[in-house]
Amino acid sequence: MIQHRIFNFYSIFCLIFSLVCFANIAHAQTIPSPKSVLGFHPTTDKTIADWSQITNYFSKLDQASDKVAVREIGKTTLGKPFIVAFISTADNIKNLENYRAINQKLADPRQIKDEAEFQRLIGQGKTVVAISCSIHSTEIVASQMSMNLAYQMATATDEETKEILNNTILLLIPSANPDGIDIVANWYRKTLGTPYEGTSPPELYHHYAGHDNNRDWFMLNLKETQTVTKLFWQEWFPQVVYDVHQMGQNGARFVIPPFFDPPNPNIPPLVLREVGLMGYKMAADLQASKFAGVATNTTFDTWWHGGFRSAPYYHNSIGILSEAASANLMSPVLITPEKMRQTRGARGLASPLETATNHPQAWQPKTWRASDIAAMEMVACRSVLQMAAKFRTNYLRNFLELNRNNSRENANPNQPIAYVIFAGQGREEVVSRFIEILLAQGIEVYKMSRELHASIPSMQPTETEIPLGSFLIPLDQPQRNNVEALLGKQIYPNRVDERGNVDVPYDVAGWTLPLQMGVESYAVKQIVEGANSNRKLERVTDINQARQTLNLNRAKEEFAKLPQPLKTNPRVGLYKGFTASMDEGWTRFVFDTFQVPFKSVSDREIRNNNLKFDAIILPADSENTIVDGLKAENYPKEYTGGITAQGVENLKKFVENGGKLICFDDSCELIIKRFNLPMKNVLKDLKRSEFYCPGSILQLDVDNTNPLAKTFGKQTAAYFINSSAFEISDASKIKSVATYANSNALLSGWLLGEKYLNGKTALAETDYGKGKIVLFAFRPQHRGQTFGTFPFIFNALEK
Ligand SMILES: [Zn+2]
Repeated sequence: MIQHRIFNFYSIFCLIFSLVCFANIAHAQTIPSPKSVLGFHPTTDKTIADWSQITNYFSKLDQASDKVAVREIGKTTLGKPFIVAFISTADNIKNLENYRAINQKLADPRQIKDEAEFQRLIGQGKTVVAISCSIHSTEIVASQMSMNLAYQMATATDEETKEILNNTILLLIPSANPDGIDIVANWYRKTLGTPYEGTSPPELYHHYAGHDNNRDWFMLNLKETQTVTKLFWQEWFPQVVYDVHQMGQNGARFVIPPFFDPPNPNIPPLVLREVGLMGYKMAADLQASKFAGVATNTTFDTWWHGGFRSAPYYHNSIGILSEAASANLMSPVLITPEKMRQTRGARGLASPLETATNHPQAWQPKTWRASDIAAMEMVACRSVLQMAAKFRTNYLRNFLELNRNNSRENANPNQPIAYVIFAGQGREEVVSRFIEILLAQGIEVYKMSRELHASIPSMQPTETEIPLGSFLIPLDQPQRNNVEALLGKQIYPNRVDERGNVDVPYDVAGWTLPLQMGVESYAVKQIVEGANSNRKLERVTDINQARQTLNLNRAKEEFAKLPQPLKTNPRVGLYKGFTASMDEGWTRFVFDTFQVPFKSVSDREIRNNNLKFDAIILPADSENTIVDGLKAENYPKEYTGGITAQGVENLKKFVENGGKLICFDDSCELIIKRFNLPMKNVLKDLKRSEFYCPGSILQLDVDNTNPLAKTFGKQTAAYFINSSAFEISDASKIKSVATYANSNALLSGWLLGEKYLNGKTALAETDYGKGKIVLFAFRPQHRGQTFGTFPFIFNALEK
């Protein structure tokens, strides 16, 4: 009996064991490879998987593997599914919510009750790593590589992979811009085998932003940015964010951190060290895998906020970027020594053909393929994951400590303790949007339930009453550095060498959000009334709470939409060529956001004089770009040629017959020249050593008696990015509506040679025939961020 029972147990055990084994084997065998689903191995020459193929593969992987959970986290701008694949051990995947909750506590240690809980969370938590591919859609290889990476993680059984799966949770984003994957895939397929194979599509690869889709990570204008920001900074708080990019063809093969100078002073030094350490690990692993041409400490800096890999720094996370040399989309390209010699020296790397400490093995020029890019990216991804797994407790502890430090009251009495947004400043919809942007990235905002007295150094008198309905953004919160980086002023270091050469920053130098948006905010040094006043304030957890405080009755359902601002119903045309103008895209974004009806105007319509509009806008593009368009040798005929000289004549007739022409920044030059206007851009011929202003906020003096400037005060902040300043030679013909301030014009960023623009015209207006021309020397709608100067555009459009 007993024996029988044992026998029974034994046989049942064997049966279960063999079933489990069989299930495991069967399971392993059914995990589909990308090739088995797509019919080709991704990253093979001249193949491309579009978004439906990529999402289809990930959904098959999700069904087959318990190590992979694919979630749709939102829709893209054009309505496609936006997905993320969670990859870890089967056990971890089952307990995702548990690990997410742990990470959320590490991101806000004020929720942790004692040291024992700290230790427990660090012991139990996993390093959360996000890897995002091909936000820039012509940098297409990573999106294809992502399927190979996911398959490898789901099937490999080596010790290193096991350690990675055990200790990390990978959030793999196959593309941060799915719409663009299809724009590029369609164009690539259309041109494959033609002389135009491998060229960039003749349209923006993000509906509004094109390449600027990676300039939106604090402003959150785009659906994709909003979706990922919610995933990262409201839900998962990744300790490591790796954004996979490509660059030009003829330089180094692969650029990774450490980055180039200058660092942003709001990035914690520990984060910069961690970024550098991870970069060196990637570099060493690539070298060990015999890849040449890997460069560190070059080109890309950490000054600017707003990139996929730079926003994490302000959440105390490690942001990594890799930039691989590009092929011709998925087609191979022959790189010659000649091409590499002609490459302009990058910051920190004199020549890609020479070795240097930060580039210890130069790459020998030859044919360069998508598979070469993918191979390097795979090694780099594994490096990041391996580090994250091996040093799990270090990453979690450092992350927690940085968040904890930020949450403490600032011990330095000279530093501000909060920013205040005063009630009753007008433009409530813009204030609401401003608060919404802060809330969306997890910044804590409070509204006041009673009046407070505060010391505000920049106000007179400095001790001021803050009225009810104002908002306070305290600095003792985990995102202290983000608050400082967004609301504080940027003072870019004056990087000029002895010979007067300026060191060009990677992106813009200044972006202070309240200045750009025309929202009044002040740094508060001290709340005079009562200790711990912050805690008596009420936290704003939802934008509609803030809207009630602002007396905005309409609830906000959609992030993007704002009330229509135009009153006279003008017929608006916006010039849109085939050169993929980001400035055009952002103008369209502003019009869609404020529900301004408009039509895009093509080269052909301008050439054929088909211009039934009250106003036409030329976005900030150069004379050549607008007149000549895409070159015939690079694109099929229907996309080439620009508006032509005939088009310029037609625009002239349009204005002479009563139309209004509105030009932004670069496009002014075309009209000033071809219409013989008595004015010039005084900055045009200056050397960089004399004048330089690479993306900064400047003070304008405004003639607010002019209808163009109605609703403005006497001064306003405007965005200048290598823009213009006009000198008017006949003031009886050209009206100056706004000028750059006579002194101290720089509000945030970097301005070298200020004297050249002081007092010069920033906004001009002239009658021309029966019509009008409005010339903006600056960017009134820069990246959809400059809410403060949007009203100039709306005023200009009114009949
Ligand atoms: Zn890129």
